[in-house]
Amino acid sequence: PLYKISNVSKPRYVRVNTLKMDVDSALLELSKQYVVNKDDLVPDLLVLPPGTDLHNHQLVTSGNIFLQGKASSMVAVALEPEPGWQVLDACSAPGNKTVHLAALMKGKGKIIACELDEKRVERLKYTVSLAGASNVKVKHEDFLNLDPKDRNSLKIQAILLDPSCSGSGTVIDRLDHLLPSYTAGSTGTANVNRLTKLAAFQKKALEHAFSFPAVERIVYSTCSLHQIENEDVIRSVLPLAASHGFQLSTIFPQWPRRGLPVVDGYEHLIRTSLEEDGEGFFIALFVRETAAPTNGR
Ligand code: SAM
Repeated sequence: PLYKISNVSKPRYVRVNTLKMDVDSALLELSKQYVVNKDDLVPDLLVLPPGTDLHNHQLVTSGNIFLQGKASSMVAVALEPEPGWQVLDACSAPGNKTVHLAALMKGKGKIIACELDEKRVERLKYTVSLAGASNVKVKHEDFLNLDPKDRNSLKIQAILLDPSCSGSGTVIDRLDHLLPSYTAGSTGTANVNRLTKLAAFQKKALEHAFSFPAVERIVYSTCSLHQIENEDVIRSVLPLAASHGFQLSTIFPQWPRRGLPVVDGYEHLIRTSLEEDGEGFFIALFVRETAAPTNGR
C-alpha cells in the first residue's frame, strides 16, 4: 500500500521491553542482523535503518521488544512514573503505552488500564500478557464513569490520557487527500463535525482527570496534527486545571518542536512532525504543585 512507500525513508524504532530483556542484550541480538543504535532522547528505544521489517522477528513475537515509534514512546516517559506508584491509563487499548508504563515502573506498583471498547479490551489483555506486565489491572469501563472518590481512585498518583483522536498525525490518515470526499485546503464539513466531537470528548476526559484527588501528574497526548484536538483543548482546560492546582510543565526541554503559540505556556508543549519524525504527535504534561512543607509552623 501507498502508506508503506511514503514511510520507507524513516528510521524504524523498537522499544525494548525491559520487563523481559535489558537494552544491551537486545542491541547485541539485533546487531547480528541490522545496524542498530540507541535513541539519543528516549531511554530503552533503539533506532534501525528505514525499511527494516521486524514484524515476525522472534524478539517481537516473544514480547521482548515492541514496534513503537519515537513520538509514541515519549508519552509514558514524559509522565515519569516511579516504581511503586499507582497509575491510571485512562484510554489504554491496544496497550502500547500501558506496558511502557509498566516497564518504567519496573513492574512495581499498580497500573489500572481502562478501556471502553469490549473488542479492544481483548487486544489490551493480549498486549499486557505478551509484555509480562503483571502489575496491570485491565478495567473494561468508560473512563468518564470512573468515580474519583472511589477507594481505588483515591490512591492514583498519575494519569496517562491518550484519548481517541482523529489520527491525522499518522501516515495512514495522511492519505485522506486521496479520498473522494477530500476538499483541498479545508478539512470538509464531515471532518469538522468529527473533530468537534472528538475535541469535546478530549476536553471532558482531561477535566475528569483533574478531579482525581491524589493525582500529581497528568500526561495528555494525541496522534493528531489538528490544533482543535491539541492546543485548543489545553487552552480550554487551563482555568479548571489551575483551580485544581495543576500547571503545564516542560517535557523534553531539548526537543525543538513545541506547541503552536496560541495558548499560554505553549513552549511547555511538544509536537512531533509527520515529515521530520514520521509521526505527528502532541504531548502536554500537567503537574500539581503540592503545598510547600511548613515545618510544623
Ligand atoms: N494508549 C493506547 C496505546 O498507546 O496503545 C492508544 C489509545 S487510543 C488512541 C484511544 C483508546 O481509547 C481507544 O482504544 C478507545 O476505544 C478508548 N476510549 C475511547 N473512549 C473511551 C472512554 N470514554 N473510556 C475509556 N476508553 C475510551
